[in-house]
Amino acid sequence: MHFYGSTGINSKGNLEIGGLDAIDLAREYGTPLYVYDVALIRERARGFKQAFDEQKVQAQVAYASKAFSTIAMLQLAEEEGLSLDVVSGGELYTALAAGFPVERIHFHGNNKSREELEMALENRIGCIVVDNFYELNLLKLICNEKNTMVKILLRVTPGIEAHTHDYILTGQEDSKFGFDLQNGQAEEALSAALQFENFDVLGIHCHIGSQIFETTGFLLAAEKLIEKLNKWKNKLSFEAKVLNLGGGFGIRYTKEDEPLLPYQYVSEIIKEVKSLVSSFSLSMPEIWIEPGRSLVGDSGITLYKIGSSKEVPGVRKYLAVDGGMSDNIRPALYQAKYEAVLANKPLEKADETVSIAGKCCESGDMLIWDLPLPKQGDEDILAVFCTGAYGYSMSNNYNRLPRPAVVFVENGKSALVVKRETYEDLIRLDLPLK
Ligand SMILES: *Cc1c(COP(=O)(O)O)cnc(C)c1O
Repeated sequence: MHFYGSTGINSKGNLEIGGLDAIDLAREYGTPLYVYDVALIRERARGFKQAFDEQKVQAQVAYASKAFSTIAMLQLAEEEGLSLDVVSGGELYTALAAGFPVERIHFHGNNKSREELEMALENRIGCIVVDNFYELNLLKLICNEKNTMVKILLRVTPGIEAHTHDYILTGQEDSKFGFDLQNGQAEEALSAALQFENFDVLGIHCHIGSQIFETTGFLLAAEKLIEKLNKWKNKLSFEAKVLNLGGGFGIRYTKEDEPLLPYQYVSEIIKEVKSLVSSFSLSMPEIWIEPGRSLVGDSGITLYKIGSSKEVPGVRKYLAVDGGMSDNIRPALYQAKYEAVLANKPLEKADETVSIAGKCCESGDMLIWDLPLPKQGDEDILAVFCTGAYGYSMSNNYNRLPRPAVVFVENGKSALVVKRETYEDLIRLDLPLK
């Protein structure tokens, strides 16, 4: 069994997280329950920052808040000195409500509305990552109307698609995001942006994929971007202050996954950027990165109560839990894989293989296929590991299931940071026929 961070086994033989018994947590807060190991989030954040600090490289590590955006989480990110990416008015609103320092907020997205851009400008956030010509013009218009300056990055697509185990070089990227680097769009956007005096163009941004285990894709992206920066220095007299290489750093969901540590990703990126920059005699830009999954993914555990089961003789045994695709849609959406144990007997030898089903009315509502487990008893608690990213943030009320509570644990203390939804909450916005 692989345990993450401060997860382990206590003297009762139960699963323990942050010094607290998982069974006690399930009893106190109910199930399903998202539990976060706060110490592990801090460790990941520090890991990303450490290499920059040691090498004295100016940097921002921006938490991509779409992975898990709640007020307490954003306050934790602030405590750890992270910056923040938001991709919608709602995420920005959450950041403002959390009191997140506005100058460290970056706004992403391929279709920001006028209202969202105005909200960003009115709140004087750190920068807007401009994605397309429509947005460039809209932002220009709003800056004129408001007679205000704005810091921007241009999002470019470098023609690299990075996946878990490989990367693909594409001449022209078929993506809804960003200005293409190869076909001249990026250069056209940059020269247009540089002509508008209300834009302070800080630099360029790219994001090449997600759940990436190797550094090759990041290094190639850095190379493509810096080559262009060299060209643009000569042609447009533009020198980037910021090189943002995005997020996508992988984590370990199952034993097949072998990610690097945050420190290792960053160290290799720094090395490559330094060497490229010096080979072109450019000045060293700030390096920004945007980890989402890798900051919060492996610190989250979901606790479920086990309920009904069904044997299909000779085929499989289904074991149902009191949640499912409503609190974790990733298996249904991406065939994502997870590991799990019974929290009240995590070390007991497995004596059967079961498949964990959710309780939603969808055959595709399965959480784990073919999980080895010991014999289950009534009231057993299943702990699914590594659910901290894109779990709660993608949760939904399908079948009108109330969304679970979220609890932070650290040093033997727990704190409720998101309340469990009630049935009342479910009908809060409904209006009667007359
Ligand atoms: C989603 C996203 C991220 C974070 O991706 P992870 O895989 O969660 O690290 C970072 N930057 C941008 C622009 C994104 O869209």
